[in-house]
Amino acid sequence: MRWTSGALCLIIACAIAVTDYYRHREVAQLTPAPPAPPPPPVKVVEEEVEPTGPVDETLQVLKGDTLSSVLLRAKIDQTQVHDAVEALTKVFNAKDLRPDHQLFVTYMPPKEKGGDRDLLSLYIRPSIECEITVEKGDDGSYRAQKEVKKLIKTTQIAKGEIKESLFLDAKKLKVPPKVITEMVKVLSHDVDFQRDFHPGDTFGLVYDTEKDPEGLLERPGQLSFVYLKLKDKELRFYNFKPRSSPPGYYDLKGSSTRKGLLRTPVDGARLSSGFGSRRHPVLGYRKDHKGVDFAAPIGTPVMSAGDGVVEKVGPFSSYGNYIRVRHNSEISTAYAHLSRFATGLRPGKAVRQGQIIGYIGMTGRTTGPHLHYELIRFGKQVDPKHVKTMPAGKLGGADLSAFKALVASINKRFEAYKPPVQPAEEPDDAEASTPTPAAENDVPTSDELQKADSKKV
Ligand SMILES: [Zn+2]
Repeated sequence: MRWTSGALCLIIACAIAVTDYYRHREVAQLTPAPPAPPPPPVKVVEEEVEPTGPVDETLQVLKGDTLSSVLLRAKIDQTQVHDAVEALTKVFNAKDLRPDHQLFVTYMPPKEKGGDRDLLSLYIRPSIECEITVEKGDDGSYRAQKEVKKLIKTTQIAKGEIKESLFLDAKKLKVPPKVITEMVKVLSHDVDFQRDFHPGDTFGLVYDTEKDPEGLLERPGQLSFVYLKLKDKELRFYNFKPRSSPPGYYDLKGSSTRKGLLRTPVDGARLSSGFGSRRHPVLGYRKDHKGVDFAAPIGTPVMSAGDGVVEKVGPFSSYGNYIRVRHNSEISTAYAHLSRFATGLRPGKAVRQGQIIGYIGMTGRTTGPHLHYELIRFGKQVDPKHVKTMPAGKLGGADLSAFKALVASINKRFEAYKPPVQPAEEPDDAEASTPTPAAENDVPTSDELQKADSKKV
């Protein structure tokens, strides 16, 4: 009776382990994982005799592990561990071993009780691109072989309805979490995630993934299109790379989702002097005023006009205490005559729009407390008044033509895509055991699209 119940428990435990494995497979696929589902590790009961044939086992790398410690823990013969690791490190840098890695070993059980296991082979997949096998030769020596996989890029389309949340509903369509996070970021300037959603709202994405030739491992790639249809608005954002600036997301009209610069980088300040020629209050003669002045009491906080990186911070000739922030390859802003800087501000530090970077003062050549603010485009001061939006934020010329072609191409494919019919509401368990196929389409990748489209214009 005790035997029967013991065996029953073992069977149930195995069943749970197998179910658990399949449940977590989705997660495992995002990180390097086995090429084939390994058999669940079988706990060897003391009284039982070890099997006589080769045994496969999956060894989990834990924090602080080395290749040797993982193998020694699995009771592999010490000399063999040394030799196998020596062979392995010829093709794999031991420093690259991470706790999410697994070693798949095949060994012969010890011939007598308490003996060491005889390592036949070892397999590790340190990344989606790379596969390493170590095998024991007839002479007992170990030889390692590394195979570099050629990844296949595919474009995926997903379309769905928001029932719970954008994140959960997109996840149900097998969109990788990294891609969903990117989507949320793209939408965050235009959507209030707390209030804007209503039943019946729909969303869609076009994104790339890379798969190994066996189609077992997948890595999320670029998100090229985001679609959101709300009760009162429809949003479409396209990933596009202008010729002279980094890629970004643009709406149908070719406006960047990146926020424009703040008009007034000082709260509650009054514009005291505009851009252009004027009699200089200190020098007395006419001089071009290369910025705009905002008068405000000493100590009034000054904010960064946009997201960017601090380029210069410190005293700078007649500017007094000076900060320059680079926003992109084209635009920087400068802040002068400051009384002091925000703590921790130094060149190379990233700042957000609206972040306090300094305080109004009257250092340098000035008659009274004010902020001298400059908008610098390609290294030259320009009048902020004439810069309607941040210039890099709006596509024009050849960029705009290329963008329009990309928009037409993505729209056409997106509209044509019919999502597979989702099974009716099922309990969570059913979803795990019968995964719906990922929205996969035999369409060119977004790179190819962009290339093809730029040829047309
Ligand atoms: Zn000024």
